[in-house]
This record gives sequence, structure tokens and C-alpha cells, in this order.
Amino acid sequence: MSQSIGSTSTLGILGAGQLGKMLAQAASPWDLRLNMLDPSPQAPAAHLCESFVVGDFRDEQTVLAFGKSCDVLTLEIEQVHAGALARLEADGKQVYPQPSVLKIIQDKGLQKQFFIEHSLPTSPFRLYNGPEDIPRDRPLPCVQKTRTEGYDGRGVKILRTPEDFNALLPGACLIEDAVDIAVEIAVIAARSPSGEIKTYDPVEMSFHPEANLVEFLAAPARISPEQAAEARALAEATIEAFGLVGLLAVEMFLDTRGTLLINEVAPRPHNSGHHTIEACITSQYQQHLRAILDLPLGDTRLRSPAVMLNVLGEEGFSGPVVYSGVEHVLAAPSAYLHLYGKTETRPFRKMGHLTVLGETLEDAIRKARELQPLLKVHA
Ligand code: ADP
Repeated sequence: MSQSIGSTSTLGILGAGQLGKMLAQAASPWDLRLNMLDPSPQAPAAHLCESFVVGDFRDEQTVLAFGKSCDVLTLEIEQVHAGALARLEADGKQVYPQPSVLKIIQDKGLQKQFFIEHSLPTSPFRLYNGPEDIPRDRPLPCVQKTRTEGYDGRGVKILRTPEDFNALLPGACLIEDAVDIAVEIAVIAARSPSGEIKTYDPVEMSFHPEANLVEFLAAPARISPEQAAEARALAEATIEAFGLVGLLAVEMFLDTRGTLLINEVAPRPHNSGHHTIEACITSQYQQHLRAILDLPLGDTRLRSPAVMLNVLGEEGFSGPVVYSGVEHVLAAPSAYLHLYGKTETRPFRKMGHLTVLGETLEDAIRKARELQPLLKVHA
């Protein structure tokens, strides 16, 4: 067991956005010193840590300098300088997720190759150096994904008609077969250095049609017990194959033939696990800390069915944020509002989330649908 909970040990977190904020909140009941690094002085978690450093986590020297003052390092965003983390690891720092795993996950092409090499099911794909190399007679529909830098749908283009080949995304990419999706689910797995693994119940994700990010999440997913068990086993096999320490969010498609395919993975707390704060015995944030600090993993069971809604900036508004309707949400029983404290709103920016618990999932969905239009984020 590590020396990890004790104010002699310092945990460094790259990124101080909303995921960093919720990690810091999960760390606060323990005796932990937190250092955080983020380019924005107004980052949501800036005031929730012992030491906040303004700096770019993509910059090698910045990450090296930041890491020197920490004993254990983790992240809330994967677009960080993995080479600097590898050097810190070589210098004896505990870095989770491990930089070697991070390098694979940062590149969607390497991620897909990893799935194939480890017999983890995923949709067939080909890699290309750039859009000009993609054969124009490629069967449609298919999906173009940039290998790096894409998230919240920004590096993804679904190609349905031959005209779509005229507006391909630039840069190295992959093209994969379009999946006939019945439902998109995610399973969060956690693994500690000793190899202990725990998974959460699969959750069901509905995406905002324009913003291409999770708008609505239902826990547990409305799939059969056999499919749920299969999804958990697949997430467990995936985290085991990576040998990853920390959390791994495994996004999957259940296709219309009932086959599970891995879409992509994220080696950190994830949007699909926000509900675990109130709906599960152990939140994903505390589970991540337990895993990276080599502590026993917590019980992942759902206390209650839940729905999570992302609170997004309204379309047509950019500027200093104003919330309306908060009182309606707070008046509702079993509704938990998280506002991340971002000073500026933009259309579809993730400004907060709302978790609603229910006696049944249908009850939670009904209550969440009633509350959703009452809360507005504008400028
Ligand atoms: P991001 O890294 O931006 O989250 P994803 O790979 O998760 O990107 O893709 C975003 C969304 O695009 C998915 O949630 C899904 O709805 C759709 N999508 C991605 N890949 C496929 C595919 N192979 N077939 C059909 N839809 C897909």
C-alpha cells in the first residue's frame, strides 16, 4: 500500500476544468495535497487546490517543471505532453494513466490497431495520411475520424453521400465502417496497480444532434442483463489489455444485430460517469483517486436509477454567463445541480450538469425532461 493519503504526498493533476474540479471535490475528504496545471487562470478548479499553476499542459518544459513538485501525477484531459510525462515516470514519479498507454490512446489510429491486436471488437477501418489518399469509391456510409485532437465530435465526419468527399477533415485520419447503432453505451472501468478491477453498470448515451456531445445519459442502460454483463466484461478485458492504472471509460456501440463494438476509450473520469457522484456508492472521481493511489477500489453499485443532463450554453449567446431557472431545479426533489463556474458561455459549451434520481429509470427520465427546459444558460 502506498503512502498516498497523507499530506506528505502531493497529487498533480494536468487540467483544471470540470473533471478536475470534480476530482478535487472527491479528494477533499481525504488528507491530500493537490497541485493543478491549466492554461486558463479562470479554470473551474483553480481555487480548489493547494497550488494552481497557469501553464500549457501540451508544453514539454511546463509539464516537466510542474511534475517535479508532485509525487503522483494524473490528468483530466488526454491532450497533454506524453513525452514529458514519460520522463517524469522514468525519474521515479508515479504517473497514471501510464504515458505508454496514453500515447496509444491519444491517437485514434493506434487505439483502433490496439483493439484489433488484442481481439477487442471494433468496426473495420483503414488509416490514411490525409483526406487526399481516401479512395472516392469507398463504400458509403462510412465515418472519417482525425487521428489526433478530436473530441466532443469535432474530429468526426459521417460520410453519407459522394458529395461528402468534397468536405473531408484535414490531416491524418482513419475511415471506419458506419455502424448500424441500436444504442450507444459506456462502461467505466477502474484498475489499480495491484491489478484489482471494478466496472460500473453500463449507461446509455443520447447525443445532441448538432453539438455532437452527450446530452442525456440514462443509468442503467436499457439493455438486457446478458448484454450488460457482456459490456462490463468487455470493458474489463480492455482495461486489462492496456494494463492501465486509473479509470478507463469504454464507449461502445450495440448494433442492431446485438453485437457490441468498442468505439473509443478515454483514460480518465468521463462525462458518462457524472451521475456516479450521487447515484453510485463510489463516484468515478473517488474511484480514480483510489486506483491511482493504490487504495482498495470502491463499490460501484447504483444506489438508484439516474439521468444526467449536460447543461449547455444556449445557442446565440456568447459572453459572461447568466443562469436562469436555477430555483426550479433546486426545488425539485432528487435533482442535483453542478455548475462548473466557467465565466464565459458559448453555444453548446458544457457549463454544468444535472443529475436526477428516480424510483425507476422511467421516473428519473420523466423528472429530467420536466426540468430540462426550465434551466437556461445565456449571456
Ligand atoms: P469523439 O472522440 O468526438 O467523442 P466519437 O468517436 O465518439 O468522437 O464519435 C462521435 C459520435 O459519432 C459517436 O458518439 C457516434 O454517434 C458517431 N459515430 C462515431 N463512429 C461511428 C461509426 N463507426 N458508425 C456510426 N456512428 C459513429
